[in-house]
Amino acid sequence: MGAAVTESPTVASDRVLVELSLEGLALDGLDPSDIAPTTSALLDALATVGAVVIRTFLSRHHGRLICLVEGGDTHGVTQCLGTAGIVPTSVWRCTELDPEPPGLFASQSASRPPQSAPRQGAAALDAVIIGAGLSGICALERLNRMGLRARVYEGGSEVGGVWHWNRYPGARVDSEIHTYGFSFSDALLRDWEWQELFPTQPDIARYLRHVVDRFGLRRHLRLGTPVLAATFDEAEALWRIETGTGERVTARYLIAATGTLSVPQLPDYPGMSDFSGESFHTARWPAGVELGGKRVGVIGTGASGVQVIQTIAPDVAHLTVFQRTPTYCIPQRNRPLTDADRREIRRDWTRILATCRESYGGFIHTFDPRSGLAVSAAEREAKFEELWQKAGFAFWFGNFADLMMSFEVNEHACDFLRRKILARVHDPETARRLLPSHPFGTKRVPLENGYYETYNRGNVALVDLRETPIEWITPGGIRTSRDEHPLDVIVYATGFDAGTGSLSRIDIRGAGGLSLAEKWQAGPKTFLGLLVGGFPNLFIVNGPHNAAALCNAGRCIEQNVDWIVRCIEWMRRQGATRVVPTPVAEEEWTRHVLDVADASVLAAMRDSWFFGANTPGKPRVVTIYAAGAREYRQHCEAVANAGFAGLELS
Ligand SMILES: Cc1cc2nc3c(=O)[nH]c(=O)nc-3n(C[C@H](O)[C@H](O)[C@H](O)COP(=O)(O)OP(=O)(O)OC[C@H]3O[C@@H](n4cnc5c(N)ncnc54)[C@H](O)[C@@H]3O)c2cc1C
Repeated sequence: MGAAVTESPTVASDRVLVELSLEGLALDGLDPSDIAPTTSALLDALATVGAVVIRTFLSRHHGRLICLVEGGDTHGVTQCLGTAGIVPTSVWRCTELDPEPPGLFASQSASRPPQSAPRQGAAALDAVIIGAGLSGICALERLNRMGLRARVYEGGSEVGGVWHWNRYPGARVDSEIHTYGFSFSDALLRDWEWQELFPTQPDIARYLRHVVDRFGLRRHLRLGTPVLAATFDEAEALWRIETGTGERVTARYLIAATGTLSVPQLPDYPGMSDFSGESFHTARWPAGVELGGKRVGVIGTGASGVQVIQTIAPDVAHLTVFQRTPTYCIPQRNRPLTDADRREIRRDWTRILATCRESYGGFIHTFDPRSGLAVSAAEREAKFEELWQKAGFAFWFGNFADLMMSFEVNEHACDFLRRKILARVHDPETARRLLPSHPFGTKRVPLENGYYETYNRGNVALVDLRETPIEWITPGGIRTSRDEHPLDVIVYATGFDAGTGSLSRIDIRGAGGLSLAEKWQAGPKTFLGLLVGGFPNLFIVNGPHNAAALCNAGRCIEQNVDWIVRCIEWMRRQGATRVVPTPVAEEEWTRHVLDVADASVLAAMRDSWFFGANTPGKPRVVTIYAAGAREYRQHCEAVANAGFAGLELS
């Protein structure tokens, strides 16, 4: 695995400590949110001179907030704070800084000083985080703020995860963007201006890079560095991590933020490698591809396929869409955001977050509390039409409360959507092929911008793979059981090895050499989707058995990270070096996840990535928690409030 890299904490000399008095605040039991206005004013002021706060400590004893600032000198920092009306107690240059918070300080979010922190086995880092998508960035920011030494290893060349990798034409977010981004900083809300309600991939990637730079996180990142293996050292109670660049490092906690949709899944048609044109997966779209004047085939009509198809159709000579399972697409209704919109969002921020928090999917949409069967047919139709006219997932997550539990209500919604498709697609035969038959919401619902009208174009053809399956990829195109389709480019919009794919590709070995991939061979087993029996100190963000996959990811990822941080703080307060779920707790949660899926309409459609159906050889076991984000959060809180019931500490 190459040479080991020595882990020595870096000592910075261009850093400044700023001390602010917190007079007037009751410091005992002070919540970080009490000082949020002070810290965000400070961040804003420092940003004007290009300086960033990289760590804050609360000195309860002295009644002071102390911030470690990078990128400015004492004079510049004092001046910019003065201009913002902030008068620090003192500002001094730090020539040497221990990587741990000085003993005098309690970290802002830890409720006890670090003398109760782990004693066993000296790890070079407190935490290694794998992946620099939303989850990894969020975890890094929180652990950094807590004063822990954390490092992120990311296989890609930049941060962003999904938003770094998925660079296909038309890639857009499906969450109203102000509800998708991070909520930990008011300053971030103020200084970032979204231009559209559902922005494109480049905008979101830019936002995530900004977050990393704004909060001084970049120096904790190792980009282009895939983690290949992680082994739990039982004697030392720490993880030994090995990367593809030969780096070896130890850490007390291993945080897997490897993404639920981060491993592209290609089909296994014969002849794929013989194709003489260009072919690629949507999540690995090569730079500089020219589609103008070409004959393009797109295989797959999930969310990515829909976005690509509706975007490239006007530019290509001919587009052939190869569809396995038609799905219900609902209008996205994207629009530019105005200054007035942005002002309103900032004003309503707290309410917006609270709405997302209490909703089924972490979105701004909340279910109508009524049953779809408690209203007349005319009222139901009017409700469906009203929701269909709205932006985003209103039709899904703003629908009748029993949409996902009652087949009858769900079928009414399906019937409504099928009629919409028939009305938009001119050719009756094409329209028929586009009609889904599964219950609505049992596959991720794509949001579309003119997708159905694309099939009214003269240069677009739809091939139904259920009627005429692909038999061979030939050097010149695709041969189905009926026709030969000559193509210059093949786009595989065939989805991801979802849920477990990214984790099972890392050689993760827990207590006694137990392999995670082997443990999950027949399907994942977890406690709350956050911990795994036999794998001490391994925390998973947005992984299998979690509500996050069906959720507005930003909201659910923050909830996951909050819980993990709370658990680590609890461990440290107990002076514990390892945490692991009990076999009973893991068994009960895994059973619960399966039962919830069986009781919902999901059970009727196992042919989706929710059940691993697009990945050959994978067991057809549900990987998502279908009861929703709110119920999931309540389970997590109940566990934490009961002293982390179900977890074993040592
Ligand atoms: C095209 C697309 C659009 C989406 N749109 C939405 C949306 O609108 N709303 C929504 O809520 N969700 C959406 N999602 C779901 C998406 O998964 C989440 O929104 C979110 O981006 C997940 O963030 P993450 O950090 O958990 O995972 P990811 O963004 O997938 O990041 C995981 C990172 O881990 C890295 N990694 C994996 N394995 C290793 C390893 N061994 N070593 C080092 N690095 C590794 C990967 O390279 C990747 O960068 C979308 C997904 C896709 C694919």
